[in-house]
Amino acid sequence: MEAGGQRPAATRGRVTVIEDEASISDPLRSALEREGYAVSVEATGNGGLESVRRGEPDIVLLDLNLPDLDGRDVCRAIRQTSDVPIIMLTARGLETDRVVGLELGADDYLVKPFSMAELIARIRAVLRRTGDRAAPAPAAAATPTAIEIGDVSIDPATHALELDSGEQLSYGRLLIATGGRNRRLTVPGADLPGVHSLRTVAECEAIKQEVAPGRHAVVVGMGFIGCEVAASLRQLEVGVTTVFPGQAPLENVLGPDVGAAMAAIHRDNDVELLAGARLAAFEGTERVEAALTDDGTRVPCDFVVAGVGIEPVVPAFVGASVEVDNGVLVDARCCTSEPDVYAAGDVANHLHPLFGRVRVEHYNNGEKQGRAAGRSLLGSDEPYDYVHTFWSDQYEHKLEYVGHATRWDQFVVRGSLAERRLLGFYLGEGRLLAAVGLDRGGDPELDADGEMAACAQLVGRRARPAPAALADEAVDLWSLAG
Ligand SMILES: Cc1cc2nc3c(=O)[nH]c(=O)nc-3n(C[C@H](O)[C@H](O)[C@H](O)COP(=O)(O)OP(=O)(O)OC[C@H]3O[C@@H](n4cnc5c(N)ncnc54)[C@H](O)[C@@H]3O)c2cc1C
Repeated sequence: MEAGGQRPAATRGRVTVIEDEASISDPLRSALEREGYAVSVEATGNGGLESVRRGEPDIVLLDLNLPDLDGRDVCRAIRQTSDVPIIMLTARGLETDRVVGLELGADDYLVKPFSMAELIARIRAVLRRTGDRAAPAPAAAATPTAIEIGDVSIDPATHALELDSGEQLSYGRLLIATGGRNRRLTVPGADLPGVHSLRTVAECEAIKQEVAPGRHAVVVGMGFIGCEVAASLRQLEVGVTTVFPGQAPLENVLGPDVGAAMAAIHRDNDVELLAGARLAAFEGTERVEAALTDDGTRVPCDFVVAGVGIEPVVPAFVGASVEVDNGVLVDARCCTSEPDVYAAGDVANHLHPLFGRVRVEHYNNGEKQGRAAGRSLLGSDEPYDYVHTFWSDQYEHKLEYVGHATRWDQFVVRGSLAERRLLGFYLGEGRLLAAVGLDRGGDPELDADGEMAACAQLVGRRARPAPAALADEAVDLWSLAG
């Protein structure tokens, strides 16, 4: 046991770095090892290929522009024998590099110079996305068909779909997993060029085109998207002013105490926070030049990114038989009010056995609820009772969250809000509803022995731990989960 009751982090995975520049690979190795990855650095492609052939790495970081070897050949060679996830690193940053990398089968792509925090976030994301590759193939089943469709209307009474082309399809059982779309700003000037939102790759590329050191951005909204965009822009030396209605970033989800810690983190990174402000309009002739708030503040800017939430994309239903309320209402098994229609992910408003009705917008839920709905489609009666978890990476800081709490009557801290390294516990009538880890506690999904994994156990068991024990560093959280 480490001091403070923290268990040592489990090894997160094995990384092979195929990279010839020691100036990059040395700090990379140290940063990754600090994160709990086992790292082997291969100075040339052949060593790296050998390690891949031996099945050693869980992920490969491959320099596309190796001085003594063409990274493309290395990538092709890896792909002939292995589907190990690959992240391409390239110094050039050309769009063609990205296209080539992805065509060769890379899972992600990063332009140097990058921050270690960004690379580590990408590694985590790729490992999450590709985690299923090693899973055994399911027993033979009917081949699913994917069809490109626009607006659809669904008639559950006749088990029929009509596409916007007018084409009719029939189904036996149907899963709705249409996600969400970004809410758009409706203030005057919101259509000006230079006002962006972020959901699709194209929107991300459009924002990247705006980025250059010394430019100034207004970020509207300080939920997770706003916070992460603000952090990324600062790391790219773009000046940032944020406009948001609450008192602190993420206050709605994490409460005022952690919100204040997040505000301090953003201020330390020179983000100007206009808390309690409402956006009134954008000014500009050819493109956006300034944002105006309702108290008359004018913030000159080069571009804007709005992160003001999403709304679920609910298909049209013929007849009123599928109940809809803030998404598609589903029972514990992810089934709608129509027996053969299911929903999962951001679009589903789920009757959770622990938390009641919840519609969440998290990657881990999309993945896990999709599987649960699939099992239900095949006849399982098992309720989907996943203790929700999500993460957010901002600057070098990591937030991890387990459970679900929209209101609570007690908030307990273990660690230090002032030092911004803590676990926070949200209790309602004595029951632990949720917990947050700020730079502490590990990833509840990946660090099986970590404090956040213990919190997930406590939440899942509807535990009622004594607040004093939660706050006490000497008490091992696993002993409370017992
Ligand atoms: C920029 C960004 C960063 C994020 N970062 C994090 C993070 O750090 N951590 C985290 O936990 N979550 C994060 N999220 C949230 C996470 O990505 C979502 O919760 C997750 O993608 C939801 O999965 P989903 O399958 O329900 O919906 P989606 O991923 O939105 O997928 C829905 C799919 O359905 C398609 N579709 C919609 N309508 C139709 C139609 N009529 N016909 C055919 N197809 C249709 C859409 O095109 C889309 O491909 C982030 C989201 C964004 C946008």
